Amino acid sequence: MNPEIIEKIKQDLLAKKSQLTKELADFTDLDEHGKNNRVAQMPDYGSESDENAQEVEQYTTNLAADKVLEKTLNDINQALKSIDDGDYGKCKYCGNEIEEKRLLIRPFSSSCVACKTKLQNGN
Ligand SMILES: [Zn+2]
Repeated sequence: MNPEIIEKIKQDLLAKKSQLTKELADFTDLDEHGKNNRVAQMPDYGSESDENAQEVEQYTTNLAADKVLEKTLNDINQALKSIDDGDYGKCKYCGNEIEEKRLLIRPFSSSCVACKTKLQNGN
């Protein structure tokens, strides 16, 4: 792959990473028991039962969002690591190069379209 494109992708990944980290900080706290993990916050709207219900609802939303964001962050970190290792853009299943077009749209893809399609059909 063209080193200039990889450099551009790396900048995109770093920007996305800091954006996601900021978003996470809005509704999660650092998990003191885990490493580099965050836990969703339990909001405090009040002690009435409808307020408690809202808290639980918001907490559930936070939990789901936390999961998605952390997974994406993880993918981004993997992609950044593979850039540093010099093996960025290879499919983790077949080892072939991932289509450049795909990487530009979704720079933290770790599998090629063919493998991804196969996996989705298999499930
Ligand atoms: Zn593949």
